[in-house]
Amino acid sequence: MKVTGISRDLLDLLLEMGKDRHPYEFVGLLSERDGVIDEISLVPGTISGETSASVFMEMMPLDTHKCGSAHSHPNGVLYPSDADLSFFPRAGRYNLIIGYPYDEVDWVCFTADGERYPLEVIP
Ligand SMILES: [Zn+2]
Repeated sequence: MKVTGISRDLLDLLLEMGKDRHPYEFVGLLSERDGVIDEISLVPGTISGETSASVFMEMMPLDTHKCGSAHSHPNGVLYPSDADLSFFPRAGRYNLIIGYPYDEVDWVCFTADGERYPLEVIP
């Protein structure tokens, strides 16, 4: 399923989660319904840390609605790190980075190759 948007409620939740976890990172897997990302399942650990989110992911049951990942960057850099670029292809096609200070505009979606991908926010 090609994803074209993200629900407003989920985006608000992701920004809240970024704030809550700050100065730590959160990682979650995203699911879509009818081409709109509308759900997150939290994953323990961080992408760069010792408790590897990607190890956990391999234990997750296969779910066809899973479409990618979301995680926060407490340093506010809205670009994928080297660790992110090796994580994204395993997580899925659409990968959100949420950055400090977690305002309305502090997020970007990337494809598995690390290219920016425009997402419409669906009310
Ligand atoms: Zn990252």
